[in-house]
Amino acid sequence: MEKRRRSSTVHVLAIPYPSQGHLNPMLQFCKRLVSKGLKATLVITTFINNTMHPKSDSVQLDTISDGYDEGGFGQAGDVQAYLTRLQAAGSETLAELIKRHESAGHPIDCVIYDAFLPWALEVAKKHGIAGAAFFTQQCAVNYIYYYAHHGLLTLPVQSLPVSIPGMPLLELEDMPSFMYVHGSYPAYFEMLLSQFSNVEKADYIVVNTFYKLEEKVVDAMSKVSPMLTIGPTIPSFYLDNRVQNDKDYGLNLFHLDPSVCLEWLGKKPKRSVVYVSFGSLSNLGKEQTEELAWGIKECDFDFVWVVRDSEAGTLPENFMEETSNKGLVVGWSSQLEVIASEAIGCFFSHCGWNSTIEALSLGVPMVAMPQWTDQTTNAKFVQDVWKVGIRVKMDEKGIVRRKEVETCIREVMEGERGKEMKENGIKWKAWAKEAVCEGGTSDKDIDEFVSKLTKTLC
Ligand code: UDP
Repeated sequence: MEKRRRSSTVHVLAIPYPSQGHLNPMLQFCKRLVSKGLKATLVITTFINNTMHPKSDSVQLDTISDGYDEGGFGQAGDVQAYLTRLQAAGSETLAELIKRHESAGHPIDCVIYDAFLPWALEVAKKHGIAGAAFFTQQCAVNYIYYYAHHGLLTLPVQSLPVSIPGMPLLELEDMPSFMYVHGSYPAYFEMLLSQFSNVEKADYIVVNTFYKLEEKVVDAMSKVSPMLTIGPTIPSFYLDNRVQNDKDYGLNLFHLDPSVCLEWLGKKPKRSVVYVSFGSLSNLGKEQTEELAWGIKECDFDFVWVVRDSEAGTLPENFMEETSNKGLVVGWSSQLEVIASEAIGCFFSHCGWNSTIEALSLGVPMVAMPQWTDQTTNAKFVQDVWKVGIRVKMDEKGIVRRKEVETCIREVMEGERGKEMKENGIKWKAWAKEAVCEGGTSDKDIDEFVSKLTKTLC
């Protein structure tokens, strides 16, 4: 272990998996740490840096290579190839980055690594640096993977329902999709289980959730894996407003024209619009998109639908013309500003964890249409634990039909259950805010993290 030179301010280096849903929470955590006196650097890939030229005020940006500097994930062609080179090139360039900061006089004191990237902890430890595992997914999902990694859950799942401490009983469709559809995306599944391969060497475990949201699971999992709950990591403007200039995430991997949606929504009555988004990665396919489109049209509410440019070809012919007086289709939105708008009555979502915790924090009821990975488990909790949404049902082909889309939207927008969801949403909104306000559970855990790191400097 090398002897390291110290500076007077704690310097953390955050390394997210290079996708939107991981960059957002880790960037936000960095902003929070800076507001508490730390210096923070967020690591992005050379590819993201060269294509998006992101800028950040309080948080410094630096780069490592994922091995695909010209085309990122798209250049790799398949998941296994991408993850293998990300680890090899990432480890090498991370080591160089750490040395560069050391010799420039602002050495790294703690590497906050995305739990998807356990190799980053090995690099940190090799350089004598503390490591904090950052889990971007909900605690319940982490605990399910913990169970699977430690052989406490036999795969493929044999005995149903699955019983894990702190959670409701889980049916197969409530499990993360890599278990629900056993054998799907083996490389991703291996990566998710490997989150626990070396985590006992981490000095801290931080999770993007808040205590009240997952109280029972956090209590149960903390017995085997103590953690700090530091979420929700949404911009401070929507919660405690204590972090300066923190109104948006500020690092979009997609082209954004924020004014389009907001101007359009500004003219709509309160809670009259359905917002539809499936995040940054989902590909619904042509048949499903068509069913969704006609379901949205049939229920006759105004809508904003995010259809990424890569997906635009799956929209049915004539859909745009037939709905031009009711809907707005955009390639990317400033999602938080959109769902914070009073005009939004329902968030039709794939239930990515960020989208879910954003909806909870802003009190917006949801229609949950999970696609894969943790979204299935998130949807279970949205409907049955937090009771802020309704989950769509698929037919035997795995397609959600237009009638089901319409029924679910109507239920949330104008049904009795929708009213309850809205009331529950208001409670979760208040609890999310309470968690990050001074003295709240997340605020205290963040303070503990900061104070322990600061003590190591003294
Ligand atoms: N998002 C956005 N604009 C969009 C769609 C999504 O800013 O049009 C943001 C959203 O607010 C969230 C992130 O992108 O913070 C998506 O993360 P999530 O975990 O919900 O889904 P993923 O993209 O990882 O599937």
